Amino acid sequence: MAWVDSHCHLQLDDRDPAQLLARATEVDWVVVPGVDARSSLAALEMAGRFPDRVMATAGLHPHEASSWAEQEQEISQLALRAAAVGETGLDFYRNLAPPEDQLRSFEGHLRLAESLDKPVVIHCRDAFAEVYGILEREAIGSRAVLHCWTGGRRWTKRFLGLGCWFSFAGPLAFESGETIRLAAELVPPERALVETDTPYLAPPPHRHGLNEPAYVSLVGEVLARVWSLPIAWVASQTSKNAAAVFGR
Ligand SMILES: [Zn+2]
Repeated sequence: MAWVDSHCHLQLDDRDPAQLLARATEVDWVVVPGVDARSSLAALEMAGRFPDRVMATAGLHPHEASSWAEQEQEISQLALRAAAVGETGLDFYRNLAPPEDQLRSFEGHLRLAESLDKPVVIHCRDAFAEVYGILEREAIGSRAVLHCWTGGRRWTKRFLGLGCWFSFAGPLAFESGETIRLAAELVPPERALVETDTPYLAPPPHRHGLNEPAYVSLVGEVLARVWSLPIAWVASQTSKNAAAVFGR
């Protein structure tokens, strides 16, 4: 089995990345997303250290969006060497940055992705209508990866219409994840990715511990069950999709 973990913050984890990668024996490669300039640089350094296993992205998390003006230049430079722009997006659930700052940063990232001709990794929490409207207006849906997708059937259908990619994480496997599983039924396997979001959101049975790339198969197995498809086939298809998105 060869999975791709399309979103894991190995650079935000205190554990040794060499060890986490070594024990992810069924994971071919991973994407390490930046959440600010510093962690984007760390992600790029990790990709340099493990070129066979790691790709990096460069961006500013919506929680940090208020510092976009200060970090834009540095992140834009780092993005030149990255596989994608992000993670960016909108989080109107935690609202750790004011919505207008989040919107400014998100739109800046989309312009950057467009100018560099790179995909964009999007965090969308309680902001489906706003993210949808912006992606539609910018006509950038087919380069957008909706990371840790938690939308229900209605939003899933609409974002599918924009040609987006859906990356499923631990919440798909949670007992409370029925809405996400029902939505996942609608996503064609050709548009789906799997991720861990390490070190957060560990899937059961590790729910209250730290997440790691090796657990990505626990997300993929649920997707296989939802689709009634063989696990090995889902691993191969989602890995192919990740390679297509991130240009590997
Ligand atoms: Zn993330």
